[in-house]
Amino acid sequence: MQDDLWEALMTHTNGVSDLKCPHCSSPMVLRTGTLSNKFFSCTRWPDCRGSHAAHPDGKPTGVPANEKTKAARRKGHEVFEQHRMRHNLTKNACYRKLARAMRISRKECHFGLFDLEQCERAIAILAK
Ligand SMILES: [Zn+2]
Repeated sequence: MQDDLWEALMTHTNGVSDLKCPHCSSPMVLRTGTLSNKFFSCTRWPDCRGSHAAHPDGKPTGVPANEKTKAARRKGHEVFEQHRMRHNLTKNACYRKLARAMRISRKECHFGLFDLEQCERAIAILAK
């Protein structure tokens, strides 16, 4: 993940991130697991077991999502790649095109950041 995206997603105060728990929308906190792996867990743990993977440097892998959104993101990636091949676009050019069509900035335009509704809009645009 790019640093600018990271800055938009995370504040460094007390290790509590701006990430929202995919299950209950509570804030999430960065923790270190037994194998020194980093991950985010819901601040309501153990009442809520919501978690999200992090890179070894503590950056989140995308934005947490529930299963339905994860499935829509996977589908979106597929349609994105097909569109890209069909129009012979680089990944970046394809994201720029999609961002324009969705009226969002290129920085916000990534399936890892999209919610369900945005995924569906992106898929509708890319399927053309
Ligand atoms: Zn939670």
